[in-house]
Amino acid sequence: RAYNFNAGPAALPLEVLEQAQKEFVDFRGIGMSIMEISHRSAEYEAVNNETQNLLKELFSIPDGYKVLFLQGGASTQFTMIPMNFLQAGQTAAYVQSGAWADKAIKEAKLFGETAVVASSKDQKFMRMPDLGALNLSDQTAYLHVTSNETIEGSQVQSYPDTGSIPLIADMSSDILSRPVDVSKFGLIYAGAQKNLGPSGVTVVILREDMLERANANLPTMFRYDTHVKNDSLYNTPPSYSVYMINLVLHWIKRQGGLAALEKINRDKTDLIYNAIDASGGFYQGCVDADSRSRMNITFRLQSEELEKLFVKESQANGFVGLKGHRSVGGLRASTYNAVPYESCQALAQFMNDFSKRNG
Ligand code: PLP
Repeated sequence: RAYNFNAGPAALPLEVLEQAQKEFVDFRGIGMSIMEISHRSAEYEAVNNETQNLLKELFSIPDGYKVLFLQGGASTQFTMIPMNFLQAGQTAAYVQSGAWADKAIKEAKLFGETAVVASSKDQKFMRMPDLGALNLSDQTAYLHVTSNETIEGSQVQSYPDTGSIPLIADMSSDILSRPVDVSKFGLIYAGAQKNLGPSGVTVVILREDMLERANANLPTMFRYDTHVKNDSLYNTPPSYSVYMINLVLHWIKRQGGLAALEKINRDKTDLIYNAIDASGGFYQGCVDADSRSRMNITFRLQSEELEKLFVKESQANGFVGLKGHRSVGGLRASTYNAVPYESCQALAQFMNDFSKRNG
């Protein structure tokens, strides 16, 4: 298999793919694929329920929260959140931490007043904004944060306490990579295609009292209460993607849960950050050390020619996905949960060799 450092859709655990392959044409003895059966069948309902429960268990989601499996990607959540929770006379507060936060802000502006309450735009998003001393007015509908900026490579290190103001997080690129105190949040959402499974499903974790704050008279599919009331089965769900999440969650359990994953993610990324920091300036990390992401490592070389050569040679050596996002350039290694330690070791080794040959 390739050393897969793609940013998304991203690597899945080999064991998961192999199990899906085994069950592909005959799901648990029913003589059909899970893709071929009704979402109202007992077999699919069992998958739907078990997947919710596994997520609750692994992410330590307290009572009083609902787990939803929706479609439309995290990008649709950028819209649904202000549509549901931003009311006339209120302001939606956003932390402007990078390209994904900017997209969320752009959508919220379509629905009402927004305020950027912390920003690192002036620092070219080379760090997470300081979340320690936010000034939130009483009229704040919610505070939105992006837990991990996939393109720039920064990550929230600790979440603020927002009291009675709901905290909402886009965790698309770091959900289940580390333990999180879910009780701090009114809503958490994540497109599946990085740490959870294949694309096609978006996980939403919603505190039930959020429903009381929601605007009325919204289109049916864009209302959270539609999906809560129907247990994510209002319309045909992305059943194969939910099934794949189920397999990934079982895999996470076998790894020892989130505390174990956090440690291995730290060890994996230390290998690569150490290769950057020990290179004597040959590689330069894009993000300040105290904001560095454990999911997306961004770095640069002295020239674009050298970066092109790095990408070319890395591909020839079996590495995939190391080119930075087209909007920022440079290089990026995405080290999501399913990326094995050995792939990171191999990359660190390749980086050391490359710098010796070209330094
Ligand atoms: N938010 C973050 C942090 C992301 O990394 C991405 C995709 O890469 C998105 C949102 C958009 O997700 P989707 O493609 O599921 O709409």
